[in-house]
Amino acid sequence: MKAVVYRGPRNIKVEEVPEPRVSGKKVLVNFKAGGICGTDMHFYRGDWRWMKRGRIIGHDACGVRADTGERVVMMPLVYCGKCYYCLRGLSTYCKRGKFLGLTRDGFFSEKTALSPVNLIPVPDSVSDDEAATVEPVALALRVLNALNPDVGDWATIIGQGAIGLLMTQVARLKGCRVIAVDLEDYRLQLAEKYGAEFCINAGREDVVKRVREITKRGSDVVVEAAGTTRTVEQTPFMVRKAGKVALVGESKGYLNLEDADEAVFFTMYISPVEYPLAVKLIAEKTLDVKGLVTHRFRLVDFERALRTVDDPAEKALKVIITE
Ligand SMILES: [Zn+2]
Ligand SMILES: [Zn+2]
Repeated sequence: MKAVVYRGPRNIKVEEVPEPRVSGKKVLVNFKAGGICGTDMHFYRGDWRWMKRGRIIGHDACGVRADTGERVVMMPLVYCGKCYYCLRGLSTYCKRGKFLGLTRDGFFSEKTALSPVNLIPVPDSVSDDEAATVEPVALALRVLNALNPDVGDWATIIGQGAIGLLMTQVARLKGCRVIAVDLEDYRLQLAEKYGAEFCINAGREDVVKRVREITKRGSDVVVEAAGTTRTVEQTPFMVRKAGKVALVGESKGYLNLEDADEAVFFTMYISPVEYPLAVKLIAEKTLDVKGLVTHRFRLVDFERALRTVDDPAEKALKVIITE
């Protein structure tokens, strides 16, 4: 079967690989559609070099169960359910945990073998493209729940890629006033459509100064979803005293806390907990992921898809890979 294999930075290829073995309680899932994530691009660009060569990538996808014919979202975290972290509902940090597509083979493959606990049924009202874009929704829900803003709080969302635009949508659902930051006007226009009250183009304006002008006291909550060291380093100066900062896109950078006010900083990844709710909110049209899809490629054209995401002129947001 065909699968997308990581061979090193700028070297991710569609290769012929053996089909997965279906052992124990696992079931085979036939690939339908998947989404390329910012994480995949960090590996493609060589920002993060710890991925094992030979690994099948992809951690956001849907498919069809070979045993029941049911359409499912594939959830990429494998956890034991019994360790210190799992028993506290923190399965993301499971001692025996694996992240499919990062520390184990992932979903950009014609077939994947998974435990039923990793398969979330998809209602008919959710398209394959939408079911291929669940991970950023689950992440946005988890991050905004952790930030726990009050109604009317200022939420500054740095980076309006697919994840940032979903953070903007969820922050609005939480009753926040949203300040959206990006370098690209087309992304800021979408942020405005999704309810951002202020849009700052960081290429033309001093973001920290603007955020402090708008909010007077600093932003109550800040999400770094741009994935750059520079934006990580700006966060202490945007947040208000005792506010909260979630580092989601990147966590490298020097946080100059000496010159900043007291605040809470945390990093955050996905957890299995939010996946079913993410599917439900997409099905009910409470959250929009369809509007984020800009390109579609077949699995065999994966290398072209990567070059498209990497080319700013393509204005890619969510790039969908189909069977
Ligand atoms: Zn991802
Ligand atoms: Zn565990």
